[in-house]
Amino acid sequence: MNAFATISQSALAHNLNIVCQYSDKAKIVAVVKANAYGHHLNLITPIIEGSDLLAVSNLYEVHKLRQHTQKPILLLSGIASVDALQEANDLNCHIVVHQLQQATIISQTKQAVNVWIKVDTGMHRLGLLADEYQQCIALFKRNPLINIVCIMSHFACADDIEHPKNKTQFNQFKQLAQPPLKRSIANSAAILSNTIDCFDFVRPGIMLYGISAFGKSDKRLKPVMKLSAFIIAIKTINIGETVGYDETWRADKKTTIAIINIGYGDGYPRHAKNNTPVLINEVICPLVGRVSMDLICVNISHIKAKIGDIATLWGNEKLSAETIAKHSDTIAYELVTGVNQRVSFSKEK
Ligand SMILES: *Cc1c(COP(=O)(O)O)cnc(C)c1O
Repeated sequence: MNAFATISQSALAHNLNIVCQYSDKAKIVAVVKANAYGHHLNLITPIIEGSDLLAVSNLYEVHKLRQHTQKPILLLSGIASVDALQEANDLNCHIVVHQLQQATIISQTKQAVNVWIKVDTGMHRLGLLADEYQQCIALFKRNPLINIVCIMSHFACADDIEHPKNKTQFNQFKQLAQPPLKRSIANSAAILSNTIDCFDFVRPGIMLYGISAFGKSDKRLKPVMKLSAFIIAIKTINIGETVGYDETWRADKKTTIAIINIGYGDGYPRHAKNNTPVLINEVICPLVGRVSMDLICVNISHIKAKIGDIATLWGNEKLSAETIAKHSDTIAYELVTGVNQRVSFSKEK
């Protein structure tokens, strides 16, 4: 039996409610890029229904998301051609403009368009610099078909509340984008930090899925994805013997090992080290040896378990995706987004 993931509808609703509590009267742009951070668009109905807008990265994702909702969709990467503009507009998108070439294309529109202007306040990835921003505004003012919905920016270090760059970016943004223009800067980390103005629109992503942006699980949120797999073999390993590829773990005493049918071919991180926790029959058990494509090995000497029992890899109160991320030198964003085709997804019963 293949690995499986269950998606909790009540957790989604709970997390969305936390967004509301922390963002005052701001409208909610739920970020559902990368197939809802790997949670599957067809399983996140409470988010789709409970938000004001939805955001994805590209037009491919807009087409996918349109099968689930008629709400406006914020297209984060914007458009690169007149054709793409037409396509995005036909799909009822709000279009992000983050560089002047896009502004030029949009400025010639013969149809009404909703645009969000993205400014670069220090991330130095996407966004217009201050003088480009003024040019863009001037260009758009000449075409009455262009509706500037909002000015947005993105934090570079929001996951570190104390980082001085947050204040610098925030102040620069506030200075550039002034009422009556609408504004949006807060992602999950900024919303949960509860230290900045959420302005007119918030853009939560990871927190909707019950994962903290700060690297360790957050009691205010409820994990949405639970990833599980079956024990398909149990072995006794004698002292001095090794387990798995490259002999990265050796038994220092007689050890009972469960072989679980999940690996990096399913999205479990290959970089997970020895002693990464796995939950079996409600007890934490340590990973031993390398993660392979289809299998992991876990020390179950201290518990009762049998073939056919279920192991939880992440996603409950005892074992968060944030913890697994820490043991595998990554962030939980990458883990949930990386769960792949071979894993069956369903709503939690
Ligand atoms: C992905 C993304 C977000 C959401 O970020 P989280 O850290 O997941 O809350 C917000 N804004 C933009 C522009 C994004 O690309």
